Amino acid sequence: MGREKCSVCGQAIQKQYMPMKEWSVSGAMCGTCYSAKLEEHYPGEHVRLGGDAA
Ligand SMILES: [Zn+2]
Repeated sequence: MGREKCSVCGQAIQKQYMPMKEWSVSGAMCGTCYSAKLEEHYPGEHVRLGGDAA
């Protein structure tokens, strides 16, 4: 399989992250953009991946 490209920045993805539906991103994202989106949509919150949503 070829490498996915990030739908946000267009760079080849090493580790692929799937966006939340409400982010309006259609496709996989790189870790950098995923982190950026997390901060953008959940400012001040530290969302833990795989953790329980408090
Ligand atoms: Zn990216």
